[in-house]
Amino acid sequence: MKIGVLAVQGAFIEHEAMLQRLGVSCIQVRQKTDLQGIDGIVLPGGESTVQGQLLHKLEIFEPLKAMIADGLPVLATCAGLILLAEHLDGDATTHLATLPVCVKRNAYGRQLSSFTATADVGDIADYPLVFIRAPYISAAGENVQTLAKVDGNIVAVRYQNQIGLAFHPELTDDTRIHASFLKLVEDRFSKQ
Ligand code: GLN
Repeated sequence: MKIGVLAVQGAFIEHEAMLQRLGVSCIQVRQKTDLQGIDGIVLPGGESTVQGQLLHKLEIFEPLKAMIADGLPVLATCAGLILLAEHLDGDATTHLATLPVCVKRNAYGRQLSSFTATADVGDIADYPLVFIRAPYISAAGENVQTLAKVDGNIVAVRYQNQIGLAFHPELTDDTRIHASFLKLVEDRFSKQ
């Protein structure tokens, strides 16, 4: 199994470290040829506008969008979630637009730009949530599964092969979310 970690900008090293802890080999995706042969991809946090522009510039955008649409498992955190969203609240911009949700960027304002919370994420109990200038999901399509809410706002979803998180599991010591993503990758393998 080989997992790509989008490494054009943002917090990709921490995701790699987490996946390596789980015994998985990673490749940093910095150009379109790095997408060849990957079994899943992580879209890290960072700055989504910059990441979106770099995806186009590096010609990663089109092949990556096609691979996700074709079932490539993806774990997207924070800016990565913004890249996946079909709609952005109050903003006509979209990026990969493969995940049928509306995402509000910087949703917690300046005062609360960084905070932590604890919540169940799907069947993972009491997961530590780290939010940094985080978005939340203001609306989700009917086949999108809500995995977690904080203060009534959706902060984690699953839709088919896509997991979208408003928070940063890579900044915790808890490997359970990355492990559940790897399970998604294994399940796809076993069907092929
Ligand atoms: N605020 C960032 C954005 O809109 C996302 C923050 C993050 O990834 N920690 O792109």
